[in-house]
Amino acid sequence: MSDIPLVIIEDNDCEQPKLPLDSWKVVIIDDEQSVHDVTKLALSDIVIQDKRLEFYSAYSAKEGFDLLGQHRDCAVILLDVVMESSEAGLELAERIRHELHMEMVQIILRTGQPGYAPEEDIIKRYEINDYKTKNELTRNKLYTALATAIRSFGHLSAISESKKGLRNVIDASANLMKEHSVHDFASGVLQQINALLKISTPGIFCVSQRPLLEADNNGHLVKESYLVVATSKKFSEIYGVKIDEISQLEAREIAQLALSTKKHVFNDSMTALFLSTPSNWTGVVVLEGQVSLSRIDEELLQVFCLNVALGLENAKFFTRLNKAAYYDGVTSLFNNTGFIESAKKVIQQANERVTLFVIDIDYFHDIVESLGFEFGNKVLKAMTSNLKRTFSAHSVISRLHSDVFAVLLADTDMTVKDVVKECSKPFIVEGSSIRLGVSIGEAHHESAEANFNVETVLRHAKIALRVAKESKRGAGQEFEPHFEDEARSRLGILADLRNGLDQEELFLVLQPKVSMGTGEVVGYEALVRWEHPQKGIIPPNAFIPVAEQSGMYFDIDMYVFRKSLEILEKHPNITKPISVNISANSLHHSEFIEELKAVMNTHPFDINKIELEITENALVRSDMAIQHLNELKALGFVLCLDDFGAGYSSLSYLLKLPLDVIKIDRSFVNYISDDSNAMFVLKGMLQICYDLNKTVVVEGVETLEQVDLLTQQGVDIAQGFYYFKPMSIDEILVNAC
Ligand code: C2E
Ligand code: CA
Ligand code: CA
Repeated sequence: MSDIPLVIIEDNDCEQPKLPLDSWKVVIIDDEQSVHDVTKLALSDIVIQDKRLEFYSAYSAKEGFDLLGQHRDCAVILLDVVMESSEAGLELAERIRHELHMEMVQIILRTGQPGYAPEEDIIKRYEINDYKTKNELTRNKLYTALATAIRSFGHLSAISESKKGLRNVIDASANLMKEHSVHDFASGVLQQINALLKISTPGIFCVSQRPLLEADNNGHLVKESYLVVATSKKFSEIYGVKIDEISQLEAREIAQLALSTKKHVFNDSMTALFLSTPSNWTGVVVLEGQVSLSRIDEELLQVFCLNVALGLENAKFFTRLNKAAYYDGVTSLFNNTGFIESAKKVIQQANERVTLFVIDIDYFHDIVESLGFEFGNKVLKAMTSNLKRTFSAHSVISRLHSDVFAVLLADTDMTVKDVVKECSKPFIVEGSSIRLGVSIGEAHHESAEANFNVETVLRHAKIALRVAKESKRGAGQEFEPHFEDEARSRLGILADLRNGLDQEELFLVLQPKVSMGTGEVVGYEALVRWEHPQKGIIPPNAFIPVAEQSGMYFDIDMYVFRKSLEILEKHPNITKPISVNISANSLHHSEFIEELKAVMNTHPFDINKIELEITENALVRSDMAIQHLNELKALGFVLCLDDFGAGYSSLSYLLKLPLDVIKIDRSFVNYISDDSNAMFVLKGMLQICYDLNKTVVVEGVETLEQVDLLTQQGVDIAQGFYYFKPMSIDEILVNAC
């Protein structure tokens, strides 16, 4: 019952319909008094379509114009041609149409001279409906002319009234996205019925077919059940009920009869209009009061019913769209839009402050890629249940997009740590227990603060999330005001970076790798630097993460690759290989290998002189990345696993990949000095690497103590400030060749 567009029509909200006219107004405009007298006398007791005639007189075109201004609802004008001037009547006819905008009134022109007929173009130009000579003022002829004119007038009026009603329905349909528009739509129906059927009914309800094959509360498919979707006040207690639960017997029966016979049903006290659309949607409008079919044109009734049916069908459709606009289809939580709307309410009710957590599942993309979309959806649903269990009923929980959730709480003591703890608890998906890593951004807003709105708090939480993801995956970060300045400067950087790449402002420095046994330089790592024309040298940590998010990472990696080849080409003295960093995203890029080959073709080089460094995150079970890795191996590159030990992946998995060198992360080196456990792990790792014929490089070696410890363990190669800092090419040529 929840998705039906239910409305109660407030009777007094609807424009009161015009009551049926009890007479037709006929205006006689003629400068001869006798014409007035004869006409009135001849037609005095005539009744046309149950109504009498009511006469008004004017004796000149000018007087006629003023009189008509007060009787715009007049049905027929008997108009003399020659009055103040020889064409005064014709000129008045034009003013009636174009100044008074009386489009429906029927104008019967009367000319003095027998045999005189107005030219055809005059009839057209002045929209004259008929003409008669004055000697045709016999009762019979006048009656026939008037009856024809009045029938036309009645017909046109009905069309016009119905058009107004249709306009309401069309306008309302166009606005149905908003809730009150469903109301507009239903009142449009009521208004239209009143206008078209010329009855004033206080009681009306619309019964609409449920969408075909929609599931009921028990998950069973229901076919063709009907619900009351709109009612006037009088019927309000049956609003929302099924058709067979309508308590008023007569109303229920007439509705059911119309639906079963697929026809309109008219009886003494009620009318049921059967509605259907080309898409097989059906419904019925039941109204109190008798409708005489002779009052309306059969075709108009069909058009009317089709419009109401389409409108109601649309109303349901739009309600569903509306639902889609605010809710996420996978988890049934609010989506981004729904979140903003609901959060506004929570914010208004908060006493002191609101807290927002934006929660991002780590490596969700990899989960989907390796275990499939369906499994991914199950993870999202499991996460949803977890969140619902953890947070109070008063929180607003939403899935903002893909794997990002938001939870808004009013006046809570919960901290980001509590949330990380809750979200990292294992849960069951497809029978197995899984534990997700999450990164969380937290932001607050005090209700006393200016700018207290959901958009701000959401922006802050998202910025905090990004900081959390960059610096501490698997943890949380509370928003700090200086993040915002940094975010702004990042945006500035991004705008400049494209230009910097085009202008070749980016250049490479090389950091030597050293054999621990001999102290010899055995290779170099290429590290990018950016010389910004205003800001000076910018380190990669200030722009690589921004580039990763913007898609520019790919261009940077290709640029560095090309520059490395150029260095080798230009400086034959550099005989040891240069290793180039490849960002995780590039390795996933579908055109990565093609682009790389294109650069290789334009810069001939010895494949043994280039190594590629790939971070462990890039290799977490992505088919595309593994495929690219194999292709790189086939091309002959030496492949190096960068930052090993900083992530969470399993060593045995990584060692199955075609990697030649394992580069142990610099954080690891920090641990070994004072943690015997780390030393123990390092020993084990080295053993496995040697067994599998992998070369080991340890990076971030800064002190003699570290050098000693690593040498004792038989580490091959080291890189770090203890030996060399990254250096310009000129410095390398002098000091480290
Ligand atoms: P990374 O690949 O782990 O590079 C090593 C970083 O450690 C370099 O920082 C280097 O200067 C620094 N380093 C070297 N020895 C020591 C040491 O003894 N102690 C300490 N504390 N640090 C040391 P850098 O050049 O600032 O680069 C930072 C990161 O930026 C790199 O980490 C890499 O992830 C990224 N990056 C740098 N150049 C490129 C590039 O050309 N392409 C891509 N995709 N990423 C790059
Ligand atoms: Ca590296
Ligand atoms: Ca590294």
